[in-house]
Amino acid sequence: MSAIDIDRVSKTFGAVNVIADLSLKIRSGEFIAFLGPSGCGKSTLLRMIAGLERVDGGSISIGGQRVDQLPPGARGVAMVFQHYALYPHMTIYENMAFGLRNIAVPGQEIDRRVKEAARILEIEPLLARKPGQLSGGQRQRVAIGRALVKSPKAYLFDEPLSNLDAALRVRTRVELARLHQQVQATTIFVTHDQVEAMTLAERIVVMNARKIEQVGTPMEVYSRPATEFVARFVGSPA
Ligand code: ADP
Ligand code: MG
Repeated sequence: MSAIDIDRVSKTFGAVNVIADLSLKIRSGEFIAFLGPSGCGKSTLLRMIAGLERVDGGSISIGGQRVDQLPPGARGVAMVFQHYALYPHMTIYENMAFGLRNIAVPGQEIDRRVKEAARILEIEPLLARKPGQLSGGQRQRVAIGRALVKSPKAYLFDEPLSNLDAALRVRTRVELARLHQQVQATTIFVTHDQVEAMTLAERIVVMNARKIEQVGTPMEVYSRPATEFVARFVGSPA
C-alpha cells in the first residue's frame, strides 16, 4: 500500500481550474519533490494532502484512509511553510511544544520530544531564547522542529528554503537530507528550484499548469525528459 494515494484529484477556485484530474502514489518513507513553476498548483496540491483544502473531484488517502474523513489531529502529517510564523512572545522551547500541548500529549513526553528534536536539529542552545533573538536560518530550523516533535507519518514542506540566503539554503538542504536519513518518514518537498529537487529527492514530480508532466528519479527526468517542458525546466542537455 502506498503511504499517500492521490486519485484523480481536481480543484477549482471560482472559475479557475488549478488541479486537473491528477493521480499519484507516494511510497512510504520516500523523499519526493513536487517541482514546477510558480502558479502551477504545487501548494494547492500539498494543502489538499494536508486536508487544509477541500478536493473538488477525486480523493486523497493517507495510510488507506481518506483525508477528508479524518479529523485534523489524526491525519498524521506535519507541514512546514515558507513563511514560518513562530510565536514571538514564546520561547523556542514553547514554540516547539505548543502544538503538542494542544493535542494533550503528556508533559514529560513533550519535554522528551522537544529535546530530541532540538538535538537532531542542533538548536539545543537556543531553546530558552525568543524568535526575535534568532537568525533566519535558526528560525527555519525551529519551524522544522515544530513538525518533527509531532512524529508525523509524513512531512509536507512548502518551499521551506525560499526565504534563506544562498549559503544557508545549501546548508539547510544538507540538514534536511540528514534528517530524512534519520527519521525515514515520507517527505513531500515542494519547490520551484530544480537544483533543490535534484539534490534532495528520490523521485521528482514535474508539474506544469494543473497537471503532472513527468514522474521519475532525478536522473530519469534529467536524462530522459518526457516533454519539452521538462527538458527546459530541469535544464536537460539538448
Ligand atoms: P504554486 O504553489 O505552484 O505556486 P498555487 O497552488 O499556490 O501554485 O496556485 C495555483 C493557482 O491557484 C494560482 O493561479 C493561484 O493564483 C490560484 N490560487 C491558489 N490559492 C487560491 C485561492 N485560495 N483562491 C483563488 N485562487 C487561488
Ligand atoms: Mg506555492
